[in-house]
Amino acid sequence: MIVKIKKTADKANVEELLNHLKKHGFEIHSSFGEEYEVYGVIGDTSTFDTRSLFAYPCVDNVIRIQEPFKKVNRKIKKEDTIVDVNGVLIGGNNLTIMAGPCSIESEEQLDTIAKTIKASGAVILRGGAYKPRTSPYAFQGLGEHGLILLNKIGKKHGMPVISEITNILDIDLFVKYVDIIQVGARNMQNFALLKALSLTNKPIMLKRGFSNTIEEWLMSAEYLMQNDNPNIILCERGIRTFEKYTRNTLDISTIPIVKKMSHLPVIIDPSHAAGKWDLVESLSMGSVASGADGLIVEVHHEPENALSDGAQSLKPAKFDDMMKKIVQLANLLEKKL
Ligand code: PEP
Ligand code: MN
Repeated sequence: MIVKIKKTADKANVEELLNHLKKHGFEIHSSFGEEYEVYGVIGDTSTFDTRSLFAYPCVDNVIRIQEPFKKVNRKIKKEDTIVDVNGVLIGGNNLTIMAGPCSIESEEQLDTIAKTIKASGAVILRGGAYKPRTSPYAFQGLGEHGLILLNKIGKKHGMPVISEITNILDIDLFVKYVDIIQVGARNMQNFALLKALSLTNKPIMLKRGFSNTIEEWLMSAEYLMQNDNPNIILCERGIRTFEKYTRNTLDISTIPIVKKMSHLPVIIDPSHAAGKWDLVESLSMGSVASGADGLIVEVHHEPENALSDGAQSLKPAKFDDMMKKIVQLANLLEKKL
């Protein structure tokens, strides 16, 4: 990091600052200009709160050079992480399509949707059982029964399953019934949940919070990797902006940025970004072309009657059309579907 000292600084205070930094084991390089006094501080700053230096009255500015995240950092691990979910690979040269209803509503509903998405080329089945709804009067999900159905239908169609966890107390249930645990946008910074999940060895898909920066998102992934669970997947699902036409604004630039900063796979959720089914195909194609490692798409056979997110759910025939285009794009990009 670089520490810039105020022109009016008290020498004794600068001395105190330098001693403080040396005590933390940093090497210090000084540079005196006509206008400024600047110190280059060399060492591992990832566990150091650089902002704390502003407590010294002599400090004018502190510029961090090293990223605050380590385990998710591409600098620490050069090669792509490939997460193996019961033989289905996510990351590297693979393009992994996950699809299914927003909410699991019944065995028949899930079975109908699972059959069609599998026939179209999806390899992982999604379905929410614990729904984080804005309104307490909205459908909250089938809970444990939903997870049991998801597990059963996933096995029936030979697809690993993914579902969102909302409560730390449900971890054992999720470990038992699902293959990928999804941490939703609303819980991206639920640090107690992240710490508890880091103790499992399950694949975890971490969605970006709708008001979170890329760095905050990667720091949350860093929490998940604290106990060396390597099976972490990132998912961009749109962020909140002033635009009202879409439910969220899909931040497609996260794909090349995150892939440069981190070795973890990046999945795109075009459904929660768009909020409208007729935008899903374009956002999906754009995401794959931009280097996404996969998609998670909401599909419902009767979106008009869906208990959640019908407006953004593709009908099976539309999903099938889209998958035909995705296959062509994957071939062009030499990605394995
Ligand atoms: C979901 O996937 O059903 C969901 C609620 O997503 P998000 O956390 O992105 O809103
Ligand atoms: Mn949804």
